[in-house]
Amino acid sequence: MQGKIGKFVQRVQYDRYVASLDALPETGRPPGPDDPYGGVESRDMARARQRSMAGSGAMACLRARPMDHARTIPASEFVLMGQRFLGVETYMAPECPCCGTQDADSRHARICPRSGAQVNQHQPLVHALSRTLKQACIQHGVEDGSPFTADRDLRMDVVVLPGQLREASEASFRHKGLLIDVTYADPQAAGHLRGGSATNDGSAASTSEARKSAHYASPGHVSFDERSFKLVPLAVESFGRLGVSGYELVDQLATSMVGGSGGGDVTQKGVVKERLLQIISVTTQVAISRRVHRYRLALRGRQAARARAQLQPGGSRGEVGQLPDAWGWCLD
Ligand SMILES: [Zn+2]
Repeated sequence: MQGKIGKFVQRVQYDRYVASLDALPETGRPPGPDDPYGGVESRDMARARQRSMAGSGAMACLRARPMDHARTIPASEFVLMGQRFLGVETYMAPECPCCGTQDADSRHARICPRSGAQVNQHQPLVHALSRTLKQACIQHGVEDGSPFTADRDLRMDVVVLPGQLREASEASFRHKGLLIDVTYADPQAAGHLRGGSATNDGSAASTSEARKSAHYASPGHVSFDERSFKLVPLAVESFGRLGVSGYELVDQLATSMVGGSGGGDVTQKGVVKERLLQIISVTTQVAISRRVHRYRLALRGRQAARARAQLQPGGSRGEVGQLPDAWGWCLD
């Protein structure tokens, strides 16, 4: 009874919170140099954030006890994550040195298409996933190109060999190998907002899933043997929600790990599933926080390089105009 009332009160409060987002202005005000926390989130930004956070397992990082490396959030990353979840973005630079966007803030640091954001964020999840599969004795390869036909030079983040998920409830997961492609989608990126992330749950993740499918398996141009392999895009939104095929993957992995839907009991499967969601959620949030932090460091490195170059007239050290290594490359 107490639980029911608690849930009801929570529900009412949550609905009120969601309704309160309507009162936000249509055009927000980004944080400026003088008011680092003073920006105002636009209505659509706030709605996109809230929809993404409301996804199943999106907030698993907040339930994760730091039992192992994959579920530990260091303090500084935790602070950045908290700010992100609250919609508090911080001012970073008058102009992004990668793409020229004016008034770059921490939101831009996450999504700047030219600064390696995709790679920085997606490698940690690939490795966390690989470690988890290893612990479960599921044979797989990382950055593996072997399932692809030779005419296109393709590689897959994680390739689970056929027949590894012996106890999965879906036949395709049971019999086929899995081509798991990890990708991040930010519902607050302009493209995803235009695509409806403020009004439809999970539209950023589903757009990314569709993009991956088109890349590897557009009709008539499938680049792997579909009889042996199944493409599984694992799209994770910045505020935690997974795409449809990501949830299916987590569900099938959990089912197989506990010995099938007839084998392990329901609670056991729930525990494994929650653990997988926690790993994905924690890894994602830590990776994004680090990404934002790295962006800030790179900006500082760039400012320092510029200052050095100004101190040395005629000294051509080649630093101005070049980006520090921390930017990384932009691959997808
Ligand atoms: Zn940029």
